[in-house]
Amino acid sequence: MGVFGLRANWVLAREAGKARLRQNVTVVVDGKTIVAVLPDDDPSVPDATIDLGETLLMPGFVNTHCHCVGAPLFRALLEDRDFSDGKDSVINNIMMPLGEIMTEILSEDEIQAIAALGQLEALKAGSTTIVDMPRATHDAVARSARQIGLRAYIHPYLISGPRASWDWENDGVQDPDVAQVMKTFWRWREAFDQGPSGLIRIGLGPHATDTCAPALARAIARVRDEIDAPLTVHLAQGIPEVELARQRFGVSPVVYFDRVGLLDSRLLAAHCLYAEPEDLALMAKRGVTIAHCPISYARSGRLAARTRFTAAGVRTTIGTDANAVDIIADLRIAAINSKYDSGDTVAGSAWEMVEAATVTAADALRRPDLGRIEPGATADLIGINLAQAHLQPVYDPVKTLVWNGSGRDVHFVMIAGEVLVHGANYTRRPEAGIVSAGAAAMHRVWRLAEERRVIEPVAQRSTR
Ligand SMILES: [Zn+2]
Repeated sequence: MGVFGLRANWVLAREAGKARLRQNVTVVVDGKTIVAVLPDDDPSVPDATIDLGETLLMPGFVNTHCHCVGAPLFRALLEDRDFSDGKDSVINNIMMPLGEIMTEILSEDEIQAIAALGQLEALKAGSTTIVDMPRATHDAVARSARQIGLRAYIHPYLISGPRASWDWENDGVQDPDVAQVMKTFWRWREAFDQGPSGLIRIGLGPHATDTCAPALARAIARVRDEIDAPLTVHLAQGIPEVELARQRFGVSPVVYFDRVGLLDSRLLAAHCLYAEPEDLALMAKRGVTIAHCPISYARSGRLAARTRFTAAGVRTTIGTDANAVDIIADLRIAAINSKYDSGDTVAGSAWEMVEAATVTAADALRRPDLGRIEPGATADLIGINLAQAHLQPVYDPVKTLVWNGSGRDVHFVMIAGEVLVHGANYTRRPEAGIVSAGAAAMHRVWRLAEERRVIEPVAQRSTR
């Protein structure tokens, strides 16, 4: 596309390592890279400039934990449920059966249509980078991400088989179960990984500490060291997981992962609500990053607060999990939870939340070129349309965004220099087709789920 400019009334730029608001400036992009941030009257502003007007132009969000298939699959199914048996009852009674129905009846194309729906939602709500953990059979997630144009770190689940050895001493080198599971990773990597600066990265995704035996965990650590692959896991996410780790190994899930060599600065650990203070201290020492997903816990009546992690010195980012892939909603809940938890009204500021979901998250992925607007950074940018009743007048657009905005206010998205959303419309192909194909596939799953009484028929969807 050559050299061109993006002008906006407000730009969230980075200067000397700090986020700073600039007014009436143009961000100059050359190919995939930001080369300058210039005031309007600078003579070197390119002629080819898109004027976004009353917009906050800012770095695209880096959503560090999401499930783009799970988000549409569970839309309005998990909220307002009886979570009294703990999170796992919902997992066993709704999430797992629905996943099984998908595998049973959907074609590859239908799974891809659902993934595209979730990914389009993510993109249009301002996530330019996602970290997704799909089922190992859902290669369609990677195919779809490539078509949609998202920057995606995809970690197909690595789960020990039913005959896996949970023997602590097993190093996994000769273990047939480990070899079988790791085949999945290599298959995905060969088919889709585009290398360290490519849009699609295939990473290691041990599902959780209760589904990943020592032999597999050690094998994953070896592969991480060998090829420097990205790594993410669900860690200390529920009470049953903590109990199992205690029974099996006599330690917490965090200590278990430390002992198999997985706990280091390359690990992105989702949730961590049940990490004890000593676990958090260990995570801080090892440089682990937490992907904090506050809405997931809020809907099950549990307060997950970012302040608990940051107070322990653990680097903390934000993810949407299998909820709506609108990270701005999670930023607001994360901010509210921080204030509740700490009693400190200054805690969880809008600026802190935006920093966590941009620069901090990019750093956790070891991508110092993402999450910032400064010369040399990659052009992954979003524009927030501030010219709307619920956002005017503007005093501090970062605070306005977190406290008054939503993903629907994103009207411009650029990834690696390509304009993917302009005037709130997706540019690569008509949105209507993506939405209807994804919804049609979902309805097939829901119909069978109704027949099997996994979910209620329409007549029973009301106040109980
Ligand atoms: Zn998850």
